[in-house]
Amino acid sequence: MPVTIIAVQYRNENEIEELRLSSMNLESYNSKYKGKLYCSMPNCEAKMEYVHCSTRPSYFRTWKHSDHANDCIYKFDRVEGAARGSGDTLSVEVSQKQILNALREAYRLSQMSEEEIEEEKSRRRNSRTTSKDPNLTATTVPTKAVISSGPRSDVDVPEKHRGASLYKRRVDALRETDIGKPRILFGIVDSVKEGPKQVELMVSFNGYAAKVKLGEAFFANSPTYAGLFYNVEAYSDKYSKPMFVGAGDVRLGKNGDYEFSVYHGEDFTVANLNLLALAAHLKYGSL
Ligand SMILES: [Zn+2]
Repeated sequence: MPVTIIAVQYRNENEIEELRLSSMNLESYNSKYKGKLYCSMPNCEAKMEYVHCSTRPSYFRTWKHSDHANDCIYKFDRVEGAARGSGDTLSVEVSQKQILNALREAYRLSQMSEEEIEEEKSRRRNSRTTSKDPNLTATTVPTKAVISSGPRSDVDVPEKHRGASLYKRRVDALRETDIGKPRILFGIVDSVKEGPKQVELMVSFNGYAAKVKLGEAFFANSPTYAGLFYNVEAYSDKYSKPMFVGAGDVRLGKNGDYEFSVYHGEDFTVANLNLLALAAHLKYGSL
């Protein structure tokens, strides 16, 4: 699944501006922006270009000879001779299966008590140190040591992930170092705001909240999800507030609060179901 790059940074002497696809066209690109676009992620110097398409949505892509910073969410490995066809398909290949597994695993964690999580963590630690299988030890990503301050709790189990570790974060475990990074986030859905091409879910845990945003890129990738989010509220009304689990990236909102962007319909679940399945179940009363 390619990660869609929806925003770039325009830099010209002292001028820095964040640009989205919607604010770009072929004319302005050629006359003003060409050669002056960079990755919008912090500390990444990768050069970007705009690819205009008349028959399908235009998009941003990474300049041929430019690489993203190691911790940039858009970093991808260049494979010699991998360009297929027009060479237009690129960016990070994160396997959908890996994301699905991570979502399921995070949901399982979300249903566990703190004690059970701790127990599992120590079990994993032990099995790691006693493991005799060289293949296992070679592929195990060490559990990151987490120093927490205050009441924030840690659910911090790394997922083997091509290029980067996809850490799972319960809303109350989000921290500054997550900003700009891909994560699996989970929390209880408190409210849903659905507008045209923009949906906001407020999710929380233990009194900590984050805003999940599904925007332009999400609906460009997954148009069938538009107009279906009332089902999340319908589920809430009928049963209880559902658990949200999603893969996306963490951002800092205008008010210093955490925001979380998801870019594909298959990249999140509500009550352990993708939204299409949740809608169908509610419609046919099989939940
Ligand atoms: Zn980058």
